[in-house]
Amino acid sequence: MKQPRKPQTGAGEKKKLRGLLEARRRQLTAEMQGMMRDVRAAGRAHERAADEQDVSESYQRSDVDLAVVQMKAETVARIDAALRRVDAGTYGHCVGCEEPIAFERLRALPFALRCKACEESRERVARVRRERPASAWKETPTGFQD
Ligand SMILES: [Zn+2]
Repeated sequence: MKQPRKPQTGAGEKKKLRGLLEARRRQLTAEMQGMMRDVRAAGRAHERAADEQDVSESYQRSDVDLAVVQMKAETVARIDAALRRVDAGTYGHCVGCEEPIAFERLRALPFALRCKACEESRERVARVRRERPASAWKETPTGFQD
């Protein structure tokens, strides 16, 4: 069933979403601070470690932790961008088609930039791009080298 054009996300809902974004940001920031403490602790541990193997192991652990911190930092950056859009009054509008993004979608993904339709067509394009070399590979006749 095709739904009628959704009403624009109201001021009350935007306030709620802003609260969601801010809460998520605080949570992520706290997690990152906790992880950075762990990374620093691991750093001190490898400074103390006399054994070379211990040193490389603690370096590897720090690398993994830093990758997670990096991921969280990227999410915080997306949240910041969303909060800026709230201030600018453009929040909740798709950057693709400029239609309002459904409130349910924003509630699930408060920093979404695109409506579901635009995001899906973008993912389809990305998938096709990724699959092209793979299918070209499959089309190569097998046993060619025999
Ligand atoms: Zn759109």
